[in-house]
Amino acid sequence: MTAAAPSVYIGRFAPSPTGPLHAGSLVAALASWLDARAHGGRWLVRIEDVDTPRCVPGADQVILAQLAALGLMPDEPPACQSQRGPLYQAALDALVTSNLAYPCACTRADIAQANAARGLLKPRHGELIYPGTCRPENGGLRGRAPRAWRLRVPHGAAARWDWNDRRLGAQTQALDDTVGDFVIRRADGLWAYQLAVVVDDAHQGVTHIVRGEDLADNTPRQQWLQQCLGLPTPAYLHSPLVLNPHGEKLSKQHGAKALQADHALTDLHKAGLVLGLRVSGKTIENCLKIDIKAWPWA
Ligand code: GLU
Repeated sequence: MTAAAPSVYIGRFAPSPTGPLHAGSLVAALASWLDARAHGGRWLVRIEDVDTPRCVPGADQVILAQLAALGLMPDEPPACQSQRGPLYQAALDALVTSNLAYPCACTRADIAQANAARGLLKPRHGELIYPGTCRPENGGLRGRAPRAWRLRVPHGAAARWDWNDRRLGAQTQALDDTVGDFVIRRADGLWAYQLAVVVDDAHQGVTHIVRGEDLADNTPRQQWLQQCLGLPTPAYLHSPLVLNPHGEKLSKQHGAKALQADHALTDLHKAGLVLGLRVSGKTIENCLKIDIKAWPWA
């Protein structure tokens, strides 16, 4: 018997346990599962529970049961970010040693004030662009207590981050003007999503990231972090979002309905429809006479 060729595709679905899966998260889960299966790859599930204040106790088990009811079974036992603190610490230590990360004492009010003084009034997605106040070359902490840790981003021409999305095509972002030096360990001591996701994807050998389009503008930060840590960069595909009848992204925060196990097949059909799956040249909607408008969008 010959040994199977090593898998060159490892994909993952990485839900945050902030509530049960809804139609929007199913589309992302199904997209990553289908892409992994289409490539003959492995598919992992990672519970992203670093942001403990937002986690709902028991939601991880609910999500795993919902995935099982949908037939989306991971190829390995699910991983949990809450058990990976030492890996994140090692990454932070490496970034500090190479002078890429530095401690920051600024509060939101400090950052807003510094930005206002520079005429930068507009936060992006509610996030303030950090003006670099605590960069060591700008005077560092100046005796103030450290709160968070930040990663330096390049400036000027080097800040222009070009990347390719398998669905959206060529993308670009100016890391300095749109993001600035970003938090990798939060002021409340929790690991930031950006650091945890990059460390975990590399540690789990993820080669292909398929996730919702709302996360696309995090990709330049994550690719920059991969470069800083000497980690490989996976391929990216951002899947379509599910919008509610008002054109807003369906989300747990806005009360999206939990998927029900007894609707699993219909929900899978509808998620396939959102992904544009076609059967014999027809959309699933035409084949199955599904009324997509009846899906529990909100
Ligand atoms: N945990 C993130 C979420 O639930 C997904 C992160 C990712 O796929 O990179 O939105």
